[in-house]
Amino acid sequence: MRTPVRIGTLTLPHRIVMGSMHLNRETGDPAALAAFYAERAAGGAALIITGGAAVSRVGAGGARYGIITERDHAAPWRTVVDAVHDAGGRIALQLFHAGRYALPAAFGLTPVAPSAVYTRFSDATPEALDEAGIAATIDDFARAAVIARELGFDGVEIMASEGYLLNQFASPVTNLRDDAWGGDAARRRAFPVAVVRAVRDAVGDAPVIVRMSGADLVEGSSTPDEVDELAVAFVRAGADAIDVGIGWHEARVPTVQSMVPHGAFTPVAGRIRAAVAASVSASASVAAAASASVPVIASNRINTLVQAERVLAAGEADLVSMARPFLADPHVVAASFAGREASVTLCIGCNEACIDRSLGVEPVSCMVNPRAGRELGYPLVAASRPSSRRVAVVGAGPAGMEAARAAAFAGARVTLFEEAGEIGGQFLLAGAVPGKGDFALVARSFARLLEETGVEVRGGCAAGVEDVAGFDHVIVATGVAPRHVELPGVERALDYTQAFADLSRVGERVAVIGAGGIAVDLAHLLVEDDASDFLVEHGLRAGTLPPPRRQVTIMRRRGAIGAGMGVTTRWAAVQAIRRRGVRTLTGVEYLGVEPGGVRIAVDGVEELVGADTVIVAAGQTPRDGLAAELAARGIPHSVVGGARNTSGLNAVAAFEEGLRAGDAAARAAR
Ligand code: SF4
Repeated sequence: MRTPVRIGTLTLPHRIVMGSMHLNRETGDPAALAAFYAERAAGGAALIITGGAAVSRVGAGGARYGIITERDHAAPWRTVVDAVHDAGGRIALQLFHAGRYALPAAFGLTPVAPSAVYTRFSDATPEALDEAGIAATIDDFARAAVIARELGFDGVEIMASEGYLLNQFASPVTNLRDDAWGGDAARRRAFPVAVVRAVRDAVGDAPVIVRMSGADLVEGSSTPDEVDELAVAFVRAGADAIDVGIGWHEARVPTVQSMVPHGAFTPVAGRIRAAVAASVSASASVAAAASASVPVIASNRINTLVQAERVLAAGEADLVSMARPFLADPHVVAASFAGREASVTLCIGCNEACIDRSLGVEPVSCMVNPRAGRELGYPLVAASRPSSRRVAVVGAGPAGMEAARAAAFAGARVTLFEEAGEIGGQFLLAGAVPGKGDFALVARSFARLLEETGVEVRGGCAAGVEDVAGFDHVIVATGVAPRHVELPGVERALDYTQAFADLSRVGERVAVIGAGGIAVDLAHLLVEDDASDFLVEHGLRAGTLPPPRRQVTIMRRRGAIGAGMGVTTRWAAVQAIRRRGVRTLTGVEYLGVEPGGVRIAVDGVEELVGADTVIVAAGQTPRDGLAAELAARGIPHSVVGGARNTSGLNAVAAFEEGLRAGDAAARAAR
């Protein structure tokens, strides 16, 4: 991993690159965008690939996309390029065209595509490009590449994956043409290959990377052989590296969710790497083949350098692209290279502050690192200007962990009180759910990081007013308690924390009152004990799904199953539990908990949902007693996360509140 590698004329010092992520910050403050990327360059990324820069207005993926061929959008990138270079990094601009995935409402333009095939992603039917439109689009890519070079970028990446325009031309699902640009596979390749050739010609010897789809995961789309042939065609057209993406936005196979096992798709990159290598060696002498080798980059659900090393060692790729892990921890490479892997904050694949936001207009950040995108507002000063200010944080769930980290990073002397023996709060519960083990690892990495930062962690200590009265500021992050529901016989039920804590208390037939995110996670935990079932479920490994471990019903009065979960997670999580036999009921009126289960009525029809264990997972209430006592005593404090308000609370908000409160508490007296 730590050996240099070449992408065309560019030599990288090692093999971990930061992959492209649209941030919804590309048209905002250039200084902030520069600070975001510069911190990741300083954090060790061998190469940064920017979020997609649209090559035309009609190709923009949304209203917050920058359009690189427009002067006002292009010029600010020079600030970013200079900042990355000053930090010792290298940066390539991703050239992007959304095709039919463009949102018509963004600029009032009808999306364009190879054919007029409706997509539910943008709820639109695009216009088919005519000959003039195709020529103009190829020219847009070439002009954008020239502008990237003029701005000082070290190279470009052409987006031909994830179901965007070039991918649409390559696929028989979205390319229904029968002309020079569609028909058989060779003609479907013609447009993406023409784009690569035009960009190659436009940038001279600058590196050109092509991000292509290794598997569309859409029924009826390109075959593996066609994908391999496309990769070879890209190389012959001038690509210096192939970056392998997986899955379209419309795919019903999860690719970016926490339930996707780490590195699940890297064998696809390995197959493409073999095809590219074979084509190079078939067309050149041994010596020429060695010098002409085109590296392949693997990506998708690789969130540690240990996993990346495995991919490289297995010969599946020459480089590994990690995108979201650089949001979660900008220093993931530098810290890991320095032997501090255990204190790296892991990306947990929740998507809630990144991909989910990137599909709308909200600026992207990261749940477990809310500083992401806000680096200028929260500078790291702990080492250079320690403060004498003493801050107590009570409660070490998401809000409390982050408050302690932020206060320490801002220079305060911090004591973190946690009544449990281990920090993490609800993250420890989530860590038990199949595919969510990283949640618990994040809690442990926080523990390590806080220790390194000098935070005193007092576990097993339920702090009272007297414990914290001497601090300059107290941050109350005491979290939530399960909400009690008024229902005849409910005393027979467990609450969800009891079920998570001790599965031996849960019988074979389970009825869950509530069907939000926690109930969906709990149902998954109750029916499945091995996240690798994912591979079988989606045909990535031969086998049959084992029978569910329990019969589970989850139900709610109003709203959808899993309401409140993130847009890219809910469908996948609900699909997963239904495939494992979980019964889901909505529109339920609860009548009572009985020895044989839960009596309900749906549309006036009564039913006993048979169960030997009933679990209540129907929301939370704030644990705010300490806050009230501090207020009564006039002790300076702030309240964050669930202890402040459970209405609409999620972990993203909890981390963000922790950041704000911790930073403010530390800086108040500076
Ligand atoms: Fe990873 Fe979640 Fe952060 Fe996105 S928001 S980078 S998925 S931890």
